[in-house]
Amino acid sequence: MLHDHHAPHASQSHAQEAQTTIPSRPLHASDIDEALRTPIRALPFEAYLSQGEAAGLRWSLHRQDVLRVLWDSDRPIGAYEIAQSLGADGVPKHPTIIYRCLRALEDARLVIPVISWKRFVISPDPAAACWGLLLCKHCRRHLAVDLTAQQARLNTRLAGRGFQPRAVSVEAEGLCNACQVH
Ligand SMILES: [Zn+2]
Repeated sequence: MLHDHHAPHASQSHAQEAQTTIPSRPLHASDIDEALRTPIRALPFEAYLSQGEAAGLRWSLHRQDVLRVLWDSDRPIGAYEIAQSLGADGVPKHPTIIYRCLRALEDARLVIPVISWKRFVISPDPAAACWGLLLCKHCRRHLAVDLTAQQARLNTRLAGRGFQPRAVSVEAEGLCNACQVH
């Protein structure tokens, strides 16, 4: 599956980075092991506000509300669920508003789209340009893996073959450790 709304600036920065610091070689299993060993935790909420400002995002109340719902959630959630939770007196917000907010938050790299589930999660680190997502189909929890360095290597390999990648997405659906024992 290939998809990433951040493609234009991500590709450019990766290409520059790759030329100077990333050796051109294929992906190895150890790359993934290294990424899996890296502890991933969500930042404090205020850190996302300042990261968004640094990325040029204007913080409307709606955007802050949508971000907080995602920040509070321990599993991927979709626009309709967000609309319901933000609704006043049982009347949900219009999903179009939520989608606009999600797109802006995604462009600022504050949230990550879960393409195969049509949902979103908070980004553990807005500085990272490429995430792999491990999705448990039983408990619906997820683990995000920083694949920025691996994507840079992949881009370098593809560029060597005359291909310009605009979007890369890695999602693995299966069972987490806890759900395998049931
Ligand atoms: Zn699970």
